[in-house]
Amino acid sequence: MLKSIVRFSLVLSLLVATNACDEGQPKTTGVDAKVEALLAKMTLEEKVGQMTQVTVGLIMKDGVAYDISMDSLRKAIVEKKVGSILNTQDRAYSLAEWHQLINAIQKMATEETERQIPILYGIDAIHGANYIQDGTLFPHNIGIAASRNPALARKGAEIAALETRASGIRWNYDPVVGMGRQPLWSRFEETFGEDVFLTSTMGAATIKGYESTDLTDITTVASCMKHYIGYSMPRSGKDRTPSYIPETELRNVFLPPFKAAVEAGTSTVMINSGEVNGEPVHGSKFFLQDLLRDELGFEGLAVSDWEDIIRLHERHKVAATPKEAVKIAVNAGIDMSMVPLDYSFYDYLVELVNEGEVSMERIDEAVGRILKLKFRLGLFEQPFVEEAAIANFGKESYQAVAKDAALESITLLKNDKDVLPLSSNKSILLAGPAADNLPTLHGSWSFTWQGTEISKYPKSTLTIKEAFENKLGKGNVTSLSAAEFDDPKNYDGAALLRQARKADYIVLCLGEDAYAESPGVIDDLNLDDQQQALAKAAAKAGKPMILVLTEGRPRVIREIEPLFDGILMAYRPGSQGANAIADIVLGNANPSGRLPFTYPAYSGDLLTYDHKYSETIREDIPNTYGSGGYRPQYPFGHGLSYTSFEYSNLQLSNKTLSAGQSMEVSVTVKNTGDTSGKHAVELYVRDRFASVTPAVRLLKGFEKVSLKAGESQTITFKLTDEDLSFVNKAGQRVTEAGDFDVFTGALTASFTYQ
Ligand code: BGC
Repeated sequence: MLKSIVRFSLVLSLLVATNACDEGQPKTTGVDAKVEALLAKMTLEEKVGQMTQVTVGLIMKDGVAYDISMDSLRKAIVEKKVGSILNTQDRAYSLAEWHQLINAIQKMATEETERQIPILYGIDAIHGANYIQDGTLFPHNIGIAASRNPALARKGAEIAALETRASGIRWNYDPVVGMGRQPLWSRFEETFGEDVFLTSTMGAATIKGYESTDLTDITTVASCMKHYIGYSMPRSGKDRTPSYIPETELRNVFLPPFKAAVEAGTSTVMINSGEVNGEPVHGSKFFLQDLLRDELGFEGLAVSDWEDIIRLHERHKVAATPKEAVKIAVNAGIDMSMVPLDYSFYDYLVELVNEGEVSMERIDEAVGRILKLKFRLGLFEQPFVEEAAIANFGKESYQAVAKDAALESITLLKNDKDVLPLSSNKSILLAGPAADNLPTLHGSWSFTWQGTEISKYPKSTLTIKEAFENKLGKGNVTSLSAAEFDDPKNYDGAALLRQARKADYIVLCLGEDAYAESPGVIDDLNLDDQQQALAKAAAKAGKPMILVLTEGRPRVIREIEPLFDGILMAYRPGSQGANAIADIVLGNANPSGRLPFTYPAYSGDLLTYDHKYSETIREDIPNTYGSGGYRPQYPFGHGLSYTSFEYSNLQLSNKTLSAGQSMEVSVTVKNTGDTSGKHAVELYVRDRFASVTPAVRLLKGFEKVSLKAGESQTITFKLTDEDLSFVNKAGQRVTEAGDFDVFTGALTASFTYQ
């Protein structure tokens, strides 16, 4: 009912506005009035063209990465009237190539079409400007989440926006705010990990970084929260396969980061390719209208993901024909189709409107949103590359931010007998497939889609081995590692052992080669046997061993973990990752990352930290129950430092809390070691009893502090009844009366909500 009222009033307001325009007396001002005036003039074909997005490959000469075909461009823009183009073909383009491309596209759109509507160009600049040659690459989101530093997340996004806008592109398909709770998933590195609060906070900071000021400003790009909703939780772990998410979990775990993204002002949303509870999201009025529009209040543009409308027919089998797929998706609420390889969407949709299967109101609603974004981005005033923006590309200062981000993300998982940092006057052997390899440091979407092509990386980017050589001098570092991850030389255990015997320390660099989307699908979360065998071979030398992991998801290392004295998780640390790793290993920097996910010890034991009480139950012998416990390799939030921090004086401002009130929780943290360090203080809350089974604890706040040796600081968190709330079985957000516990460090306190 609510849905039809909203729809009706929107149509009504468009009609009123259109009439008003006809009389030359627009009742609305600004962008809305401009959109309505333009809509009133457009033909059906022009409108449907706006809803059509094609990939750049369609306007390039056949099979080449970069050579614009003016005939194909004319077909797209003049004949099919497309409103949007995306992507790059095969590789990152140089800044000059982007400028030529964007200007050619906009020239044709504004000079050769009747309405002169500029094109909205979209790109995945998901950890920096990864599709511009020499762009600055930051850690992937999973590392950014480990930094527990939203200001740094925002700074990185600001730089990504500056560099993207410098290329002439104003729309970025980022951030992923899907929850990273399925570690098998090949896009785990694109997520902010398993926690709702952390994902919501980091997602919102990233969006503010992209869209901070007015979108006409040359420092901004439109962001795109994605992939709405449930994509990140495939039951099988395989990319783009079905999710099954009960509604209470959907609302308590998966929806909040999207809500936070809407509140942070994201302009667009990309839809999950997959199906949730048997319903493909691209064809779902429940997901696209009821939840997204009516409940979250999202007013921006909804773009499909790659080819996903036709897949309602081809894959999901809810549409008997490709044309029916278009009808279902557009009627459900998709505003723009990332078709992207042909013009079938355009042709079918024109037919469907003419046949009365899709209403003109729905078309106007979709096109209205597209035009509105184009106005907001300033494309109508200046569609071409903005001269002033170009100077914002590749500034020296960006590397320092990339370095800080890498340093703050890297997480020290193990440091037995304080083996780290290593003393720099000893000889170090750097080994393993990740030691001299660039892709493993960057992961997906790094100068190519897969990120695997070494030759496409900037010449200045260092491998881990090179960073160590720079810092210690070539003579003090030995390495047999080859540049390609799969090079057989990287797996020669006998050669490794010979070298290991001569070295003082062994730094073994293991993990994952780069991959994106389906090519990253795995059947086994265990680190592969070949790499585990290397660790076992090296251990025979009896030397202190350090493991450096560069990986996009937690590969199980249980069997080899005892062989190492120190373990560093570097995730996908980006352009400055190697420098950051070397600085931490050598003690030039103190690690401060905390795991944003549970690092499992067994691939069959994938509990998250916020599991339910009953998830650890084991029936030991019939009717005798014990607890299997939460026993990961490393828990969520784990992360060591070269100094130590002590928590004291946990204080609650009240012993009770009521509706509409808030309370303060303060704690003092002291650096009790002899070196300065950063540390993220975390606040967890437990609802002791609730009508929907409560989690054992939930993160509700964190703050990163920087403390010199001996220094202390008191941190104050604010808790409101909203923080204690959850969605109950009736779908209502409630805070139930009862006792709550708070935890920070090893301290705990309680209060009552009444
Ligand atoms: C991915 C999206 C991406 C789009 C455009 C799809 O395959 O799922 O995340 O934005 O391609 O490159």
